[in-house]
Amino acid sequence: QPEHSEVTTCAYCGVGCTFKAEMRGEEVVRMIPWKDGKANHGHSCVKGRFAYGYAHHGDRVLDPMIRESIDQPWRVVSWDEAIGFAADRLKAAQEKYGKNAVGVITSSRCTNEESYLVQKLARQGFLNNNTDTCARVCHSPTGYGLAQAFGTSAGTQDFDSVDDADVILVIGANPTDAHPVFGSRMKKRLREGAKLIVIDPRRIDLVRSPHVEADYHLPLKPGTNVAMVTALAHVIVKENLVNLDFVKARCDWDEYQDWAAFVADDRYSPEALESVLGVPAADIRGAARLYATGGNGAIYYGLGVTEHSQGSTTVMGIANLAMATGNLGRRGVGVNPLRGQNNVQGSCDMGSFPHELPGYRHISNDAARQAFEKDWGVSLDPEPGLRIPNMFDAAIEGTFKGLYVQGEDILQSDPDTRHVSRALANMEIVIVQDLFLVETANYAHVFLPGATFLEKDGTFTNAERRIQRVTKVMSPKNGYADWEVTQLLANKLGLNWNYANASEIMDEIARLTPSFAGVSFKHLAEAGSLQWPVNDDSPEGMPIMHINGFARGKGKFVITEYVPTEEKVGPRFPLLLTTGRILSQYNVGAQTRRTENSQWHPEDVLEIHPHDAEDRGVREGDWVKVASRAGETTLRAKITDRVAPGVVYTTFHHPNTQANVVTTDNSDWATNCPEYKVTAVQVSTTNGP
Ligand code: SF4
Repeated sequence: QPEHSEVTTCAYCGVGCTFKAEMRGEEVVRMIPWKDGKANHGHSCVKGRFAYGYAHHGDRVLDPMIRESIDQPWRVVSWDEAIGFAADRLKAAQEKYGKNAVGVITSSRCTNEESYLVQKLARQGFLNNNTDTCARVCHSPTGYGLAQAFGTSAGTQDFDSVDDADVILVIGANPTDAHPVFGSRMKKRLREGAKLIVIDPRRIDLVRSPHVEADYHLPLKPGTNVAMVTALAHVIVKENLVNLDFVKARCDWDEYQDWAAFVADDRYSPEALESVLGVPAADIRGAARLYATGGNGAIYYGLGVTEHSQGSTTVMGIANLAMATGNLGRRGVGVNPLRGQNNVQGSCDMGSFPHELPGYRHISNDAARQAFEKDWGVSLDPEPGLRIPNMFDAAIEGTFKGLYVQGEDILQSDPDTRHVSRALANMEIVIVQDLFLVETANYAHVFLPGATFLEKDGTFTNAERRIQRVTKVMSPKNGYADWEVTQLLANKLGLNWNYANASEIMDEIARLTPSFAGVSFKHLAEAGSLQWPVNDDSPEGMPIMHINGFARGKGKFVITEYVPTEEKVGPRFPLLLTTGRILSQYNVGAQTRRTENSQWHPEDVLEIHPHDAEDRGVREGDWVKVASRAGETTLRAKITDRVAPGVVYTTFHHPNTQANVVTTDNSDWATNCPEYKVTAVQVSTTNGP
């Protein structure tokens, strides 16, 4: 029988389910979905329910370790020695190579308070803006694109809003695998009669599952999202389906007219783009008509939109569709990014990007910068710092020498693994703070043990901007919450931080961030959760944004010219590889592989269409070599018509397959988000890895 219990928030995906963790002493014995959870209403998926498994796993490293160079064995040391070693090397790197030679990477797995302190360490401690977050490699185009269109880098709705959707348009997302609790909620609405449009190269479960069938599945070729959203817009404009009352009242009329003339061009007709997209024009026309005229239209999208060389353009194209049809500002509609990790939204909110202070204020904004300067007692650099890929490039050039990574396995999760490993090997100090000796730790000089979500206090912000408490249900096995470790490092670097608890960090965030002005642990305890902005204008938060006007004033229509990716198929690499996730595993698998979930999906496999398999003599379960211009890996083949001919698909949950060895360093033009979703490859049979 449990002896006590606490309510806390799942540390996996952006749905943000809350659980009651039942404890016996310092052991979690069960996690029960919390009936009052506003994101999950008492439901959970197979990941969250068993999440506590990795907290108790024997692979956890609980002692700090250092080594002079990466070819030496690790040496267990005291916290004081490890932190001192890290601080000395960071200082030495800055003295020798300049203040911009070091930086930090925060993680969407960490709390808001932890992310806030890591970016503060860069800005106040290193005096540069070399701070980035793993959101760089997933939803940075969302941050950019939605800010351009609406003025706010966040989804427009709460999850409950889907109950009023008449048409659900899912593009580049696989909710039943990647966001299962919300996926179930969506299916419930579909069973009640809502219509469904799925735009995805794969026949994901939503397309056809018991009692749910998509009205339109548009299986476009990977890399053609911009052509697709512009073709949909073409139909809406040319067939006079635009909600002109909404556009005239809410959007910049001149920009709208320029955009309408652009999309009306014949080269963006579904017929003209049929061969580019690989989708029948009639289906595109039918889907456009359904979205524009079927009642409340709600768009949900995921990494299949953002992880492209035109990721930001597609996000803005989606915003164009919603504005043109008036599908914003009320229940049942909206533009809703389904965030991959639990705290992607929060990590971005907290100023983890090199160009933005907390609350999405540009670092060149004098008033915003001065507020932080006054509070922190330093002069801040008004120039944006290095993004993650820029850090890697600078490291290879020899100008970037030190990195502190909290909770992110960059070697496994970033594209073009060989490039990342060369960059890491060229640094003089790499500090990895994590639960396990992850792949990146192979290149680290300092390993600082991390704490799980069960061992610390703080907050996560889910995909609907909902800030929820993370509650310490057991003592940190390593001795410290992650924010405490950052504080130790900051103070060793000469700063004078005195946070007694995570609540005090949130108080500072609220003091300096207008959209969080009314957030405190006390307020969260009273309200259960709060959806930002929380301030004088919306003291109890804002479930639905842009009701009476956009945050930027008039909504902005952006021209979305389709530019084909540089990644081309050809005789050497004739197939397009796209990647994604599966229900039972989470991202690089560092956590889920160490839970009960390890029994499901024990390896990544390559989905290949029967025609492509036959052409290559590949049989079900065969080992196949997947080779690209960047590298090659070996997986087992799964023959399925879920993928179209010419397209292959895999997941990236297992380090032995290293899917990112083959992905390229192409990236989004605006944000450098990697183009994980489009890699030209060849597939051939082989004897094994
Ligand atoms: Fe909920 Fe996502 Fe956690 Fe599953 S992984 S329990 S859907 S937050």
